Amino acid sequence: MTAQEPTGERVRLRPEIAALPPYRQGRPAPADGFKLSSNENPFDPLPSVVEAVSASAAHINRYPDATALALRERLAERFGVTADEVLVGAGSVSLLAQFILAAAAPGDEVVYSWRSFEAYPGLVTVAGATSVPVPNRADHGHDLDAMAAAVTERTRVVIVCSPNNPTGVTVTAAEFEAFMAAVPSDRLVLLDEAYIEFANAAAAGTAGDTAAPVDGRTLIGRYPNLVVLRTFSKAYGLAGLRVGYAVGPIELLDAARATAIPLGVTAAAASAALASLEPTAEAELLERVATIAERRDRVREALLEQGWPLPEARGNFLWLPTGEATTAVADRLFDAGLVTRGFAPEGIRVSIGEEESVEILLTILSELVPASQEGLPA
Ligand SMILES: *Cc1c(COP(=O)(O)O)cnc(C)c1O
Repeated sequence: MTAQEPTGERVRLRPEIAALPPYRQGRPAPADGFKLSSNENPFDPLPSVVEAVSASAAHINRYPDATALALRERLAERFGVTADEVLVGAGSVSLLAQFILAAAAPGDEVVYSWRSFEAYPGLVTVAGATSVPVPNRADHGHDLDAMAAAVTERTRVVIVCSPNNPTGVTVTAAEFEAFMAAVPSDRLVLLDEAYIEFANAAAAGTAGDTAAPVDGRTLIGRYPNLVVLRTFSKAYGLAGLRVGYAVGPIELLDAARATAIPLGVTAAAASAALASLEPTAEAELLERVATIAERRDRVREALLEQGWPLPEARGNFLWLPTGEATTAVADRLFDAGLVTRGFAPEGIRVSIGEEESVEILLTILSELVPASQEGLPA
């Protein structure tokens, strides 16, 4: 064929991909404003972590270690597993994509709670599989019974997000164990624990306390179909470097490794993660997590007192069930310098950020307490 005249015909793309909404990051925070829209860590990086990243810059002519072995070894130690039972990826979103691609193809189903992490539907579509969203309970938590009931012959993956983004509600250890017993052991279960450190900071759940939030670390080795996903983006403050990890059975991790785009985890990211796990650095980072968790609980208490019907909040964010008023409330907060994440017509997710943002938030929201709380939990 020779070069062609433009015909006005659209380039043939996969229709389900062309129909996906284009990615639009939240509005940038105005000068003097606060970005409370991406659940980022408001603290500046630790000097020791910045130093590790700077040192890695001297070698950027080289490819990184393909499997980030040093980081996997360090993580394996704390989970009591071998390095082969840990997989590192360019953020846990990358790992979610890899596992979904490894297990689900066209005709297959992926079950998850909804509303939950906004990346899930797109990742399932990209795999060519079909999403089966299961509505959250009235208290904005996962309805695990309904999720287990939604598993069919076609189900290949079930995603459980605890604490759930964007509602903040956790799955309890007892609920999760009952769920694992109900789901066939030949279906992959992904436990997305992007915010677990903030949940643990709230009420250090002792092992065996079944009313405590589920903690994937205590479940490693117990289920052949369970993979736990965690990230350095939130509690460890490395969102900009892209590094997360999965812990689970070797053959499942091998399958996910096969679907990855190679060399996604840079040496800078791996060295920053390693530096964050150094005892003094990690102690300081976890102190910051406790500060955020304390701030979250304080803001939540104040909002409950104002009359806001907030659900449990165990991440680094709060969920405001603003319903039809979502856009209006988000705009009002924006005008006051607070960028939040609205999910109209359901609610608004507000990240817990700088202490200086708290008073502004409480002042604006005190003027906007919903008059009707019909359908919302007490
Ligand atoms: C932020 C987040 C992730 C991970 O993000 P990465 O930056 O890709 O590690 C995963 N799951 C949920 C629910 C999140 O909110």
